[in-house]
Amino acid sequence: MEPSVDRSTIWPYVGGEPGPFHYARDGHPVGVEAERALGELEGGDALLFPSGMGAATAVVLALLEPGQTIALAQDAYYGTGVLLHELERWGLRHVLFDQTGPPPPEVDLVWVEAPSNPFLTMPDLEAAAAHPSLVLCDATAATPVNLRPLEHGCDLVLHSATKYLGGHHDVLLGAVVAKRADHAARLHEFRTRSGIVAAPDAAWLLLRGLQTLEARVRRQGETAAELASRLGRHDRTSAVRYPGFGGLVSFDVASGEAARRVEIATRVIVNATSLGGVVSTMESRYRWEGARVPEGLLRLSVGLEPLDELWADLEQALEQG
Ligand code: PLP
Repeated sequence: MEPSVDRSTIWPYVGGEPGPFHYARDGHPVGVEAERALGELEGGDALLFPSGMGAATAVVLALLEPGQTIALAQDAYYGTGVLLHELERWGLRHVLFDQTGPPPPEVDLVWVEAPSNPFLTMPDLEAAAAHPSLVLCDATAATPVNLRPLEHGCDLVLHSATKYLGGHHDVLLGAVVAKRADHAARLHEFRTRSGIVAAPDAAWLLLRGLQTLEARVRRQGETAAELASRLGRHDRTSAVRYPGFGGLVSFDVASGEAARRVEIATRVIVNATSLGGVVSTMESRYRWEGARVPEGLLRLSVGLEPLDELWADLEQALEQG
């Protein structure tokens, strides 16, 4: 059973001194419990943040210095590149690289994504781990069910817990899991000072989501693998991308207009952004990412609906393409 949600922002001092909890910006019981559960799954020290991007912001501001450089996987989540571009004003540099090969030398943080959203490439984790800098893996789409990056030599794992970890499209949350205690301590210090803190209700929803994580992710992976193979044989699709595990599939239809027609024609699959929920979602990514992706690219996040219902829905929608 999850603990009840303690929404207090203060707790009485113990014998005149701050106890384990004293002010919610520094920590709260349900947050600590959710961090313990996620840390156990990833094999490190977990810290929650109010969103995936909040977690990313905390990592770079807490662990890097102005003038330092991040090597970012070129097909990582487009919002990560947008954030790093924003932080250039504060003296943080970044370069892009192909994560299927070794990262460039002379950088201070290597940032890979497993698998990348929406191209679904996998990083060469061995090459990344051999790099002397810090290595972070955004494993939002893999989840610890499919990959534990700390076991592959990464220093930090990042999650948009809004996705699979929460799992129900009802919580905005992020997390960083650190292998080293000093990194976790610094992130905690920065989080308390900056106030980039996740609320107790969000932490509770993560605890609830983690109870079914493995069952959800395994079933979504089975359904997605079969849908990817059927999409690969369909005459209206090309470039079907599937990394061999997980619930995300992306594929191209003939044009941007065709993608728009297909995405609004689905009846079971919801035409919405985001991914990782029990309800399947699909959208054209061109609207958000522009020329970074093919105009006809559709990203499908497979939920828990029956395989045949999803396939029938895709088939009738693809007729519109
Ligand atoms: N990382 C990946 C791989 C994502 O897909 C996303 C969101 O789509 C994020 C990070 C950002 O997470 P959030 O939306 O929780 O801020």
